[in-house]
Amino acid sequence: MYRDGARKSIWQEVVKKFTAHFDQEPMYDVAIIGGGITGITTAHRLQSAGKKCILLEAHNIGFGTSGGTTAHINDFFDTTFKEAISKFGLDNAKLLKEAGREAVNFIAQNVLRHNIDCDFQIKDAQLFALDEKQEERLEAIVDGAEQVGYSMKYINKIDFPFLFKKAALIKDQAQFHPLKYLNALGTFFTVAGGQLLEDCTCISHEEQEEYVRLETTLGNINAREVIYATHTPPGLNLLHFTTAPYRSYVIAFHLKTGVYPEILGYDLSDPYHYYRTHIVNGKKLLIAGGEDHKTGHAEDTGACLSNLEHYCREHFPVDTVAYSWSSQYYEPVDGLPSIGKLPGSDGRIYIATGFRGNGMSFGSLSATILSDLILSGSSKYEKLFNPSRFKPTAGFTAFIKENATVVSDIVMDKITMEHIDSLGEIRSGEAKVVRLDGSAYAAYREQDGKIHLLKSTCPHAKCEVRWNNAELSWDCPCHGSRFNINGQLLNAPATTGLPRVEPDG
Ligand SMILES: Cc1cc2nc3c(=O)[nH]c(=O)nc-3n(C[C@H](O)[C@H](O)[C@H](O)COP(=O)(O)OP(=O)(O)OC[C@H]3O[C@@H](n4cnc5c(N)ncnc54)[C@H](O)[C@@H]3O)c2cc1C
Repeated sequence: MYRDGARKSIWQEVVKKFTAHFDQEPMYDVAIIGGGITGITTAHRLQSAGKKCILLEAHNIGFGTSGGTTAHINDFFDTTFKEAISKFGLDNAKLLKEAGREAVNFIAQNVLRHNIDCDFQIKDAQLFALDEKQEERLEAIVDGAEQVGYSMKYINKIDFPFLFKKAALIKDQAQFHPLKYLNALGTFFTVAGGQLLEDCTCISHEEQEEYVRLETTLGNINAREVIYATHTPPGLNLLHFTTAPYRSYVIAFHLKTGVYPEILGYDLSDPYHYYRTHIVNGKKLLIAGGEDHKTGHAEDTGACLSNLEHYCREHFPVDTVAYSWSSQYYEPVDGLPSIGKLPGSDGRIYIATGFRGNGMSFGSLSATILSDLILSGSSKYEKLFNPSRFKPTAGFTAFIKENATVVSDIVMDKITMEHIDSLGEIRSGEAKVVRLDGSAYAAYREQDGKIHLLKSTCPHAKCEVRWNNAELSWDCPCHGSRFNINGQLLNAPATTGLPRVEPDG
């Protein structure tokens, strides 16, 4: 698998392995960790600006969320301008609007300048309210947009088969094939002299006076500056308390009628559904997403996928479902991403995370912000997205709430863990965390009877993992580390897997 789950996403037909050619330099200008849209775009930009860069990716380019995204490119965000005004003030909300436009233009210009064949298309978008509550929300969204000078206009027809109360049109959004885009940028990065190391996990960092030493699975690497484009960094950091991992579900299907909505679409349910089309092997598919929940907090993740399919079948003439998958995104407690210097570091380490469902834009914007910070020492967005901005003011209630669940997750799972006397009690197809002979295990028995036994305690913050039956993974409910059935690490912030245990007999 070339993705952090057992299901194949629609983009994975074009996974590219970059050949490892590692002539290690004694010192790099910048080491970028993480080969998703954030890491690749930043590495490409810094290398093009003359910096000597190395990019480290634990698996392959696009292994993380960028390979499981739906790749709408927007300049409006899950955090609405109305919310931004109320939390950060009108001027900051206007700056957010500017940031969004800059991000969309940045991707469009990259595609144009480098002639990247990535199915990039400018598309309009429709936001539609399905009930009265959503209608109120839409009115607030449009009002907030008006206040910051962002154009949204009410329309009385939509391209989606829903009975709607009210709808708005947003012009000049975009979509693309994320992996084709990343493969191209990765290639340009290496052609420009950048080193791209796949299958290399960064385990930890040690800050020296003049540089940072990275401990990696391929040895130590020194760089004057380091960027974590991994959502959250290894170890324990303020960001693990201000950013929470969520799962979202996607299906891609053919329609019996062959008539597709040629526009981006979003309802205002909570969580909301999102729609776009894409052509694979000459056949069009409608891609629908939704059913989001906090990682490790859904009893039956398989049901999230089937609920989504059921919902789509109720509204669209679905023929066949060609792809279904889920992936992970990160919610910041105050609604804005964290892009800039890593809290608690001496100033040579940077982070970009908390993008909600807007990582195509924010990941790309991170490349410009982080490059500006490294190349010139400042960015006009540095205060707005400052990762150390969290004080017991903005988003504090949410801060307390997110962390209360982390504490209860750690404690409750250990107290309530089921005790078993033998592995024979795990039935075919069953997976659960159990205590056996005094130790805690994550046990999964395949349909053919084969059992996979792992130590169940996440190496990151010692929480117990929980089963994700949609992606056949063990997910940590505290900070979102994930592991496959063999214990191999799928998602940070853990940097090692779950130890595999050979069952007796
Ligand atoms: C289902 C879904 C749909 C979405 N749809 C949209 C959308 O339509 N539009 C939009 O704008 N956003 C969307 N998002 C959000 C967006 O996809 C993400 O925010 C974005 O892809 C994040 O990119 P990234 O480069 O920061 O992280 P990733 O793509 O996750 O890349 C991080 C990489 O770091 C690597 N890594 C982690 N730890 C280490 C380590 N210690 N050492 C080395 N490598 C490491 C991982 O293997 C991974 O490849 C969606 C998210 C989900 C879950």
